[in-house]
Amino acid sequence: MSDESTIFDAILAGDIPCHRVYEDDHVLAFLDIGPLSRGHVLVIPKERARFMHELSEASAAAIGSVLPKLCRAVMAATGCAHYNLLQNNGAPAHQAVFHVHVHIIPKFDDGSGLGIEWNSGELDDGAAMAGAIADAIE
Ligand code: 5GP
Repeated sequence: MSDESTIFDAILAGDIPCHRVYEDDHVLAFLDIGPLSRGHVLVIPKERARFMHELSEASAAAIGSVLPKLCRAVMAATGCAHYNLLQNNGAPAHQAVFHVHVHIIPKFDDGSGLGIEWNSGELDDGAAMAGAIADAIE
């Protein structure tokens, strides 16, 4: 468990209010206070972990198992047909709150939602890179 307390700990403790949409033993989901679009939801583990690579498999599984129904609920409530899931790790990767969270961000025809700059390159070391990653899996 991380030593670093964040605003999400205060939300989990009920010390700071949120617009809660879902809760179980391992997961809390609530509206983002600065939504990129209507219905922007944050899904967080109750376990305190800064980054995805530090999260327990149990918490990761708990989040993963509720995401489909939360996405369906966001679609039903907002009428969106499209959405992005976003999960930032590290300040350079746009993480501002250092407690793992998954964004569910509806994308609407008016353009509201997540803006993405996708600077794709060439895959020129695929075999070596895939091998290196595969070998690094614990
Ligand atoms: P990150 O950039 O870390 O992936 O996103 C953190 C998100 O947390 C931001 O979208 C921000 O609006 C949201 N956020 C930060 N503080 C609060 C808060 O006190 N309440 C709620 N509901 N959302 C928050």
